[in-house]
Amino acid sequence: MANKKVCDSWFATQQINEDLYLITEPHYYWYNRANLWLIKGRDQDLLFDTGLGVASLRQHVAGLIDKPLLAIASHIHFDHAGGIHEFEERAIHQAEAQALRDGDDHKALCSQPGWVDADHFECLPHSGFIAEEYSLVASEPTKILQEGDLLNLGDRTLEVLHLPGHSAGCIALYDHRSQLLFSGDVIYDGELLDELHHSNIPDYINTYERLQQLPIDIVYPGHYQTFGGNRFREILSDYLDRRRQPGCPQKKTDKGLK
Ligand SMILES: [Zn+2]
Ligand SMILES: [Zn+2]
Repeated sequence: MANKKVCDSWFATQQINEDLYLITEPHYYWYNRANLWLIKGRDQDLLFDTGLGVASLRQHVAGLIDKPLLAIASHIHFDHAGGIHEFEERAIHQAEAQALRDGDDHKALCSQPGWVDADHFECLPHSGFIAEEYSLVASEPTKILQEGDLLNLGDRTLEVLHLPGHSAGCIALYDHRSQLLFSGDVIYDGELLDELHHSNIPDYINTYERLQQLPIDIVYPGHYQTFGGNRFREILSDYLDRRRQPGCPQKKTDKGLK
């Protein structure tokens, strides 16, 4: 760590279309590197996920923001909620509001061995950065999100879907008109994590059964590449086939499960 240099630029930005930017942290370990989505509306902008919080995302996006901005954590994990404290308006689902308020490193995963490691940083986000001291910064949510909340950006509306399983407070944002889903860690095209200490497989199964009913054109996920409706349905059915094997939990009422 001592001989690593400070990165020239911690974030990378890609414009997807006139209303959407993807921001990533390319010098951070690919496995935990999140996709941060800046969604531009007529009257309001949204930032769906905020990265690790090891460099100023607020400064990085300042040039792209010309309206009130609401920063949202798709869930409490450090790679999504780490930077939310920097923003004046910040939102998270009710189930994880207290964890954000407390800066709960256990729920954020960053106190778990191996989740934030010096080797995961290709260069330093700022001079003096020490990975071992990484911690979720406690901050008070200014908005608590719940299932069915509508986020009106003026020219489009996104609905909050509460989709627990990966963690208790996971949300996705759904645009009914365009059939777009900003999915956080609920669904992405990579190894799905449903066995973390606070994951719940029966909830994950219920979430995926619910998503099977949702018309989808494009998914903008919390990790890895954007994908379309066919891949969306394939990931859902692969997961359900795997987790509904005999001996695996199928119902919320199964005993002995977290
Ligand atoms: Zn996560
Ligand atoms: Zn994640």
